[in-house]
Amino acid sequence: MRDNYIWVVREGRNAIVVDPGDAAPVLAWLAQEGVELKGILITHHHGDHVGGVAALTARHSVPVYGPAHESIPGRTHPVVEGDIVSLPDVGLELSVLDVPGHTAGQVAYFGRCDGVPITFTGDTLFTAGCGRIFEGTPAQMHASLSKLAALPGDTLVYCGHEYTLANLRFALAVEPGNPALLARQAREQAKRDRNLPTVPARMDEECATNPFLRAAEPAVFAAAAAHAGRPLADTVDAFATLREWKNGF
Ligand SMILES: [Zn+2]
Repeated sequence: MRDNYIWVVREGRNAIVVDPGDAAPVLAWLAQEGVELKGILITHHHGDHVGGVAALTARHSVPVYGPAHESIPGRTHPVVEGDIVSLPDVGLELSVLDVPGHTAGQVAYFGRCDGVPITFTGDTLFTAGCGRIFEGTPAQMHASLSKLAALPGDTLVYCGHEYTLANLRFALAVEPGNPALLARQAREQAKRDRNLPTVPARMDEECATNPFLRAAEPAVFAAAAAHAGRPLADTVDAFATLREWKNGF
């Protein structure tokens, strides 16, 4: 799982983890830093996001927050949209958003960390892309992404995988003339050349460069119609066309 992210929020000697697909790196980090695990947040049921939960909870008796409408191993606190997850040990209070599409019951978390808005988006919104639609419909996925795109522009997006460069290659095929996209591609490539993460990214940059948040933009809509070879009915049709185009890209 070389491109999976497991996010940690640490405050002093306490930490929580998000989507621990693997326990080993988390346990090693906790031991190395002398930090105590206080909770686990899960966005969806896929193995590369929950695979480490059992081994972590075997050693640390901590609450496991996860989507109510999915089967999550070890989950103690089922969450749905509107719930608030309070994690005082690390100074976090997160609200839950239902973001189905990649999976049927996926959730995202949104809150402020030291005053900075952050969101954990799992495999719904990726930096410069989005997850595949495995269990939901294009209309659901589009609505979920629109919900995330409506978060404040300075929100930092923490997603589940390092897919940015591949996503940007597709984004440039859709919108070769978007100057914000060209600038971002150069910047993110420079980070990867130094083996630095491209995640997190700001939401306003996602809105300016991520084709899956831009299906209603005339240039993106037109590119989708040209790819489909037919007139598109609406924004959801354009979004669905983009998602299928990316699947075969
Ligand atoms: Zn997934």
